[in-house]
Parts: sequence; C-alpha cells; structure tokens
Amino acid sequence: MRIYHGNIVYSKNKDELVELSNGYIIVNDEGIIEEVSNAIPEQYKNLSITDFGDDVIIPAFSDLHVHAPQYPNRGIAMDKLLADWLNEYTFPLESKYKDEKYAKEVYTKFVNDLVKHGTMHVVVFGTIHNPATDILVNELENKGIQSYVGKVNMDKDSPDYLIEETDQSIKDTETFVKKHSNNKYAKPILTPRFAPTCSFELLKKLGELSNKYKIGVQTHIVESLWEKEEAKNCFDGCRCDMHIYKEAGLLNQKPFIAAHFIFPSEEDIKLLKECNGCAVQCPDATTNVIAGIMQTGNILDKGINLGIGSDISAGSYLGIYRQVASVVRLSKIKAFYEKDIRTVNFKEAFYMATKQSGALFNKVGSLEKGYYFDALVLTDLNDSFNKLKPAELVERFCYSGDVTNIKSRYMRGILINKD
Ligand SMILES: [Zn+2]
Repeated sequence: MRIYHGNIVYSKNKDELVELSNGYIIVNDEGIIEEVSNAIPEQYKNLSITDFGDDVIIPAFSDLHVHAPQYPNRGIAMDKLLADWLNEYTFPLESKYKDEKYAKEVYTKFVNDLVKHGTMHVVVFGTIHNPATDILVNELENKGIQSYVGKVNMDKDSPDYLIEETDQSIKDTETFVKKHSNNKYAKPILTPRFAPTCSFELLKKLGELSNKYKIGVQTHIVESLWEKEEAKNCFDGCRCDMHIYKEAGLLNQKPFIAAHFIFPSEEDIKLLKECNGCAVQCPDATTNVIAGIMQTGNILDKGINLGIGSDISAGSYLGIYRQVASVVRLSKIKAFYEKDIRTVNFKEAFYMATKQSGALFNKVGSLEKGYYFDALVLTDLNDSFNKLKPAELVERFCYSGDVTNIKSRYMRGILINKD
C-alpha cells in the first residue's frame, strides 16, 4: 500500500467537484483507492508517502470516440466540410491499413500518445481490415488500457477501395470478436461506420452477432443534418437514426455508444435512454468538419449519459483536456445564438470527461474510495504572483495546458511513465 500527497481534484457528480488542498490518497496493492482524506488515518501512519507537494492529482481521462487509423491526418484538411474531408483525405488514408507494417507503426505511436496525453480508457474505431485492427487491439491490451475496439463495417456508398461484401464483413467481424472476447483490457465492440454506409442486411446480421456474443455497439448517430435525413432515406419505415439500430437488434447489449448525437429527434433521445446508451460530444470535430454544435446542457438535463471524444482526425488534438474546454466554449456560443439553450460550466464538462466517461469501464474516472488509482499529476500551472486554487489549476490545464504539465501518470496504482 502507498500514500500519495498533494492537491486532489475529482468529480462526485456533474454538480460537485471535490477539491482537497493538501490531501492524501491511500492506494492498496491492487491499485484501488482505500481512502481519500485531509490527514493520514491512524492505521496508515507507517506507510511510505509519495509527496507531490503543490501539484494536483486528478483522475485520468477517457476518450469515448476516436479513430486510431486517422491519427496521421490530425490537424490537416481542417478547412474541408464532411463529404470532401471523407472522400479526399479520410477514406484514402484508411485504405492504407491493408498494410500491416503501416498499421503497426501508426498504432504504436497512437497508443503511446494517448497515454502521454493522460487518456487511459478509450472507445476506438479501427478500419475494415482485420489484421490491422488486431494490431490495434494488441497494442492497447499490452499497455493495459481499458478499451473497446471496433473493426469497421461498411458495405455501401463507400469508395471501391474501402467497401466490403456484406457476408465477408460479417464473417470478418465474427472472427474479430471471437479472437478478442477473452481479453483482459481491450475488448471488441461492433462498429457499423454509420447508417448511410451500411445496408440493412448488414446491420441486421450485426444485430445477430451482438446478441449471440453479448457485445455492444459504437457508431455515429445524427452527426449532421445530411446524415439525419440520409439515414431515414436509406431505410424504409425507419423514423430516425436510433430506430434503425433498434430494428436491427443492435440496442440490446451494452454498451451502446452514440458518437456526436447533435441533431436527435425526441425518439432518438427516448431510444438512447431506454438502452442506457452513452452519447459522446466531440466538440472540436463537429466544429472542424461536421458543422454542428450539440445542445450539451439540454442533453445533460434530460438525464442522458454524455461523455467526450477527441474524434481524431475530425478532431485535431488528442488530449481530452482541451475538449473539456471546448465543451464549455461551444455551449456559450450556442446559447448566444439560439433560444432555450443553457451554458455548461467547467464542473459539468470535467465530470463528462472523467467520471461519466469512465463509467463505461471498470471503476475509473474518479478518485473516490473503490476506484482504481488511474491518475495524473499536474504540475507547473500556478503563478507566484497569483496563487490559484486546485480546481482553478485544473481548469487552467484544460484551457492552457499541454502534455508538459502532466508530471506523472498512474494506471491501477502503477507509475507508468514520467516526463
Ligand atoms: Zn467519428
């Protein structure tokens, strides 16, 4: 067992951010937090202490929507809109993952950089290629990163060089699921790209796999006005995006992860709540290429689970902390231009990126008793001339910080690297 001392900040719920100056965290040998306190409890007096002084200890972040194969394109083509961005940049890049050597190179860097940015839990898209996506799973599994990883399905309205035959797509998916079902950390998840690139036959067969193997689903839901309409046009009788997935039998298993969810109908909202799914806001992505701003406050007020994603490479920065700032910023823009929209505060956005997103995984995202000590130590954020409180330092990190402010990273109580 070990004691960590420093300033401690974590979310209890969306309205309560705990801030403990000069606090202590007691972590047992399994890496689980036994106690968080202002003083060292009597029975732990003899334990050794790791002292972080004035630095701030926070929970590690979770990224609920990111495309690992698009990592080489981060920060470029940001002046394109969705269709051009997909056809000119994203699809050609994804086709390169038939080359396993290329996949290995990219995915090694991607996974290293995730950890560097303080992201220790992730829900991630691969490509249609099994061998490359196996490499991605293995990289995450070997690093011990709690994750859901998907081999992408797409059998229509996609470029010739990146389209699957329906039966082969299902066969490959079943192989992928079987291969990784017993993994400890990196688990498979079904990943139909989005409704317009999937035939109903494909979605229904994925629904059968979902129920047979008790495996969840990630996809893009109502991410643009075009997609909202196109999805309905593609599927006779379907009233909204979520209805398609329900009809295909894809809402029965956990988790169901709905990336973007920017333009939901009342029925989309009802169905997502019924399956206890999780929407994911990707603020930079939606302003870079997709052109829509989520009604974040309203979605939270409806009691929908709502996490945050970097959505590389529509999003341009891997660090989720910057997305926390963007969630707040976009809510203010939306509230300024539209009626009946409320702004989101920092507490809520930080909660979304930590405890709420972490709820998809095993006991991560907070520093409360019983949670794994998956944590970051933040440094060099205070000024001698204007001392800030711990929670203010975390806010400053999210707005103005970068990897150089992350001094140490702990995963399940183990120091995994240090800058
Ligand atoms: Zn995406």
